[in-house]
Amino acid sequence: MKISVIGTGYVGLVAGACLADMGNNVICVDSNTEKIDQLKNGIIPIYEPGLEELIKANSRENRLIFSDDIHYAVQNSDICFIAVGTPQGEDGSADLQYVLEAAKSIAKSMNGYKIIVNKSTVPVGTAEKVKELISQNTNYPFDVVSNPEFLKQGNAVDDFLRPDRVIIGSDSEKATRIMQDIYSPFFRTGNRIIVMDIKSAEMTKYAANSFLATKISFMNEIANLCEKVGADAEMVRVGISTDNRIGNKFLFPGLGYGGSCFPKDIKALIKTGHDFACDMNIIKSADAVNNKQRQIFIDKIYSKFGANLNGKTFAIWGLAYKPKTNDMREAPSITVINALLSSGAKVQTYDSKAIESAKFYFDDKIIYSSTAYDALKDADALLILTEWNEFRRPDFDKIKTLMNSHIVFDGRNLYDADRLKESGFEVYQIGR
Ligand code: NAD
Repeated sequence: MKISVIGTGYVGLVAGACLADMGNNVICVDSNTEKIDQLKNGIIPIYEPGLEELIKANSRENRLIFSDDIHYAVQNSDICFIAVGTPQGEDGSADLQYVLEAAKSIAKSMNGYKIIVNKSTVPVGTAEKVKELISQNTNYPFDVVSNPEFLKQGNAVDDFLRPDRVIIGSDSEKATRIMQDIYSPFFRTGNRIIVMDIKSAEMTKYAANSFLATKISFMNEIANLCEKVGADAEMVRVGISTDNRIGNKFLFPGLGYGGSCFPKDIKALIKTGHDFACDMNIIKSADAVNNKQRQIFIDKIYSKFGANLNGKTFAIWGLAYKPKTNDMREAPSITVINALLSSGAKVQTYDSKAIESAKFYFDDKIIYSSTAYDALKDADALLILTEWNEFRRPDFDKIKTLMNSHIVFDGRNLYDADRLKESGFEVYQIGR
């Protein structure tokens, strides 16, 4: 099939590469010409395991090409995926300007029947807006389909190639059939393509993200109480997660959720609730707990060192909002580092993939180390902010020789606190 993907970010680039890998001819378009130039030269602007290999293999076969010319892309494809950003607007709602701009450009470039597939996360009613805008700008026939994306950054290629399910919101039999055709190669065993009406598809994405975010906030709230009453949140986590009605995912106490999706999607759903006079109390609380969680961690540092951190040096392991990505959007590290800097501290950081992203936020205000151990030199405390695997079993004897004092604020509960204490470390964790 001939497919165009508008927006080559974390979603569009992965979707484009995976769709090409199934034998489709895919044109990935972005208005950011620098990004497109990089991609044309084999430079992958984001880190995502397996993505570079997939892009290179499919580019070699000419099944995957990159362009900044949306007109060319639309004219040479039958199905146009929209995968542009939907950032948080000033009032918390999803800002649809990029989606609508992409839709208008598609409409103006049409040369026959097209299926316009919305992959971006958008509030209920957006497909209707897109339909209206397209019909104002073209006389060619078209269908609009909602196909929200559920991939997880850090595992995006695998999630796209082997999805738990694909949601298709459609009111056209023809478009539904073609969408089923596109996705059937991804389901060699069992068919988990779920077809529904467009509004339900749009809502499914927000419901899924809000539920997962709520699970994280729920566990963090329990963890905070565990700490007060002397219980161990890790034991409680294991205790509850063995109940298969609860499950074992998204129950790790920590610094709360970040990233480009949960924070904005939760706020957008609260705003939709507000617009329809439907109070979203649980989701509002999940959001409030999440915001508080970072401050609770920062307060642990202040309780130990005082609010004036002049002359203190902090080593930070992990900048990305989660492991296996270079993405720092809404990362807890941003809040924590800003608090440290505004209290006068020196900050030495290490992250194997997110250093370039961090420079966008902190420029020369912090030190970027090329190894985890380099970041520890003369540090008064080590802060674990992202649970990258490489931090799980470090050489603690070596750590001791590098640091000024042996204090660890383990924001991801990575370590066995008792063992660390036996080796002479002072350890602060979440919920224990
Ligand atoms: P992103 O910011 O990484 O990428 C968006 C891209 O769209 C950018 O490269 C931007 O230059 C491009 N763009 C914007 N307007 C354009 C236009 N008119 N024409 C062409 N290109 C344009 O965003 P992302 O993380 O890939 O997210 C995209 C959407 O998918 C969002 O709605 C997001 O909520 C949703 N989503 C994201 C994830 C995730 O893990 N990142 C997962 C599921 C769904």
